[in-house]
Amino acid sequence: MPKKIPMRQCLGCREMKPKRELIRAVRSPQGEVSLDFVGKKPGRGAYLCHDAECLKRAVKTKALSRAFGMPIPDSIMDELANASTPTPNT
Ligand SMILES: [Zn+2]
Repeated sequence: MPKKIPMRQCLGCREMKPKRELIRAVRSPQGEVSLDFVGKKPGRGAYLCHDAECLKRAVKTKALSRAFGMPIPDSIMDELANASTPTPNT
């Protein structure tokens, strides 16, 4: 039996994906939003695919700010944009 893989929902496409394939954003108990590349930061997490399309969708629907109950700083949006891969046009 394979180990059970923790699944999380992407805020962009709403698909369930293995946690390791998603970008984790986290809001700390102090109310600071940051990206968590090791999956160990404390706080409330939200997940996104490494896909620029999912990020775009999440921005459009304000899914991130809703998940955290606060506006997301531009610096974090930039970090997210850098962490996501644009969909190839091929
Ligand atoms: Zn997605």
